[in-house]
Amino acid sequence: MFNRMPVPDHSTHPNVNPHLSEQIAQRKPNALLPEDYVARLLTGDRVALGRAITLVESARADHQQLAEQIVAQCLPHSGKSFRIGITGAPGVGKSTFIETFGLYLLSQGRRVAVLAVDPSSQVSKGSILGDKTRMFELASQANAFVRPSPSGESLGGVARKTRETILLCEAAGYDVIIIETVGVGQSETAVHSMTDFFLLLLMPGAGDELQGIKRGIVEMADLIAINKADGERKGLAMRAKREYAGALHLFPPKSSGWSPQPVLCSAIENLGITEIWQLLLAYQELTLKNAYFQHNRTRQATFWLHESVQASLHNLFYHNERVQEQLQAVEKAVLDGSMTPFKGAALLMEKFLTPEKIE
Ligand code: GDP
Repeated sequence: MFNRMPVPDHSTHPNVNPHLSEQIAQRKPNALLPEDYVARLLTGDRVALGRAITLVESARADHQQLAEQIVAQCLPHSGKSFRIGITGAPGVGKSTFIETFGLYLLSQGRRVAVLAVDPSSQVSKGSILGDKTRMFELASQANAFVRPSPSGESLGGVARKTRETILLCEAAGYDVIIIETVGVGQSETAVHSMTDFFLLLLMPGAGDELQGIKRGIVEMADLIAINKADGERKGLAMRAKREYAGALHLFPPKSSGWSPQPVLCSAIENLGITEIWQLLLAYQELTLKNAYFQHNRTRQATFWLHESVQASLHNLFYHNERVQEQLQAVEKAVLDGSMTPFKGAALLMEKFLTPEKIE
């Protein structure tokens, strides 16, 4: 259970200088050293956390360098949270649910951070998940931290930044991290690969309940919560629950040893919230006992290592001057059929790997 993974008491951190905040306040922002950020972060200072995340999200080389050092120094203080992914179509009630659920967790003595993975803003120039005004009540609580998705980025970029932000939030003492996403592109897969538990939020609707939901998402879910199980929709919600219970039986057993199930809830009427948290705790207890929890984290870390290498190589390749010089011509040749894509790729690789001539 959770008490096997205690969150350190940051208020009494031995390395923290009690006068640090004053000293730092007097310094110019760009004069702050990574250790200044880290020391403040470890005390749970939300301003320092917010600023460190801004550095992680920044495209500036000096910011990235600073962010890298901050994340590295936070690493030994990270990992001690329960990372929960929540996905669902727009309108199912994700933000309402997270607000109700988050407030409940605070009442249980937890510290809750809510992050988002929303690459939609890059494509549509508008966010599906919405902006900072969401979850207003939760965001205003002392032990909660709500941060919108990094914007203007590919899914890979958003995912990497969110992963680093998770580590920062953990170092700042948040012991439940909720990562919200909407099923756009592969965003739910990205969130699944950075969380311990994956919750699919649905709402009851007319007709076939299984329609319109990607099969892969249902298969990834550790729990299906059918929200809006209130008022007129209650009957429909109960029917949906029965249908999902049947559908979930058809999937092969999960390697976590956990059997996912559907539950009913109402974020607005605050129903089913305690039951959902109890199920999450039961999952955590089971997977800590059978070692799946740690195994999954290790596997995820390896996955992200390779993802990062791929992203770096991709960047290096496409920013390489010699590649850039040839790219258009090769693309044209592939398009008009005078060159195969494989030959084109080999040619570009050769350009990429040819060492710079020294004049
Ligand atoms: P999101 O797009 O998934 O984040 O959905 P929102 O949280 O913005 O909710 C969409 C709409 O559903 C809003 O009008 C909410 O008030 C409503 N809603 C959310 N949860 C519930 C619920 O439990 N019951 C009912 N009846 N409505 C809800």
